[in-house]
Amino acid sequence: MRAVGVHPDAVVVTSRIWQTTCTAIRAGDEAMLIDSPYFPDELDALPALLHQAGFQITALLATHADYDHLLGRAAFPQLALGVGESTAIRLRTHPGVAQKELRDADAEHYVERAPLALGSYESLPVPGYVGLGDQELELHPAEGHTADGTAVFARWAGVLCVGDYLSDVEIPLISQRGSLEEYRATLARLAPLMEAAETIVPGHGSPHDRDTALRLLDEDLEYLDGLDKLPPGRDTRRQRAIHADNVIKHG
Ligand SMILES: [Zn+2]
Repeated sequence: MRAVGVHPDAVVVTSRIWQTTCTAIRAGDEAMLIDSPYFPDELDALPALLHQAGFQITALLATHADYDHLLGRAAFPQLALGVGESTAIRLRTHPGVAQKELRDADAEHYVERAPLALGSYESLPVPGYVGLGDQELELHPAEGHTADGTAVFARWAGVLCVGDYLSDVEIPLISQRGSLEEYRATLARLAPLMEAAETIVPGHGSPHDRDTALRLLDEDLEYLDGLDKLPPGRDTRRQRAIHADNVIKHG
């Protein structure tokens, strides 16, 4: 797990697996944790790490309902998990799926942990705003990777957390209930937000500056155009498997 300060009020923590990111954003004496690392030891260490960096986490938010982004309460069990309304609908419509997929992933990697307790998550209107200290975070719809999704923009810090888009390590992954059309619409919606941002944080991979994120946006749009040629630098065995799956489901 590594932590990188991207702004005086924002730190990005990256898990040892899948380069899964979580972002702590601070405003006044409040701070929100967006998404989560994966391994139990990372989740155990997270409160102290963020506390030392001066972040008192007072709120949790997940960008979408994939199990690897939902683990914030394992680190901060006293807090409720906030989710966009599309994610709340997905969790309600498919109860227990995230928990089962987490169990399967844990079994694959021989990871032991207590069962995931989502508790009573809080559904937030998207598009909309959520207050944090003396600021407001913007919530924007980001569907396509999955049927749900929310991008979070801390405009005062110039930090845009997009969920599973604009990754430098993963090609666009369109899951079973995702949609190619929605994926494109999300990228189009993110473009002007990226222009107004300094740091773009993908769900997996490195935090990007604006130019890097805009280049990835172009590469991803080109990939989605033909669903044929993998973006340069992301042509690995694992990404070719994701690509084959995209073609079967959405080609
Ligand atoms: Zn993910």
